[in-house]
Amino acid sequence: MLTIGMLGGMSWESSAEYYRLANVLVRERLGGLHSAKVVLHSVDFAEIERMQVEGRWDDAGKALAEAATSLQAGGADFLVLCTNTMHKVFDEIQAAVGIPMIHLGDTTADAIKKAGLTTVGLLGTGFTMDQPFYRERLESHGLTVLLPSTEDRETVHRIIYDELCLGVVRDESRRAYQDVIARFEGAEGVILGCTEIELLLTQDDVPLPVFPTTRLHVEAAVERAILPDNRGTPTQSSR
Ligand code: GLU
Repeated sequence: MLTIGMLGGMSWESSAEYYRLANVLVRERLGGLHSAKVVLHSVDFAEIERMQVEGRWDDAGKALAEAATSLQAGGADFLVLCTNTMHKVFDEIQAAVGIPMIHLGDTTADAIKKAGLTTVGLLGTGFTMDQPFYRERLESHGLTVLLPSTEDRETVHRIIYDELCLGVVRDESRRAYQDVIARFEGAEGVILGCTEIELLLTQDDVPLPVFPTTRLHVEAAVERAILPDNRGTPTQSSR
């Protein structure tokens, strides 16, 4: 089995989910006492968030590239960057390491195409929704991406930073997201394009198919980690 390098802490609420899901999926696939081989580099999100707000993306790219290098040195065979937003600096990070990274936008686009859909609504941070880096990556796969109105984007962004990244999950915010989704005109599905959103919303809460980016990213990582050639022999749990 290959070792997954997780570049997380953005926020740790969703990185914890990456770690949990990776282990759940490896156990499902290999059985017994098998668990995921993971190295995690978890940053102080307050430092990264300040760089985001101040538009210091170069600094953020350098900090995350350094973190990625430490994951490679720690034995990671490939990397996942556990946040949609920071994929803005994906290329800088990838250029700093000699191991592959799985791009969250590609993983998400693959799942949407597999579901036979082409037009999807995007929910994420203001950075992810307003700036072209993420949308264009999805569009490069032939998808049409719909965005919420300016006011709705502000609501979605505020709930991510003021609540979800702090571990606060409120029914009122779930309803606010459901209202935003209901206002997408022509969407065949919805991308939960921020790794904390699936802590608030599940498929049961939404009438359209949802694409939960944390789960999709972890599924892709586990798939890669347990390529048939690397698969260990399932063990029986002993008592
Ligand atoms: N985890 C979030 C995302 O997937 C937001 C936090 C961040 O800005 O990195 O975009």
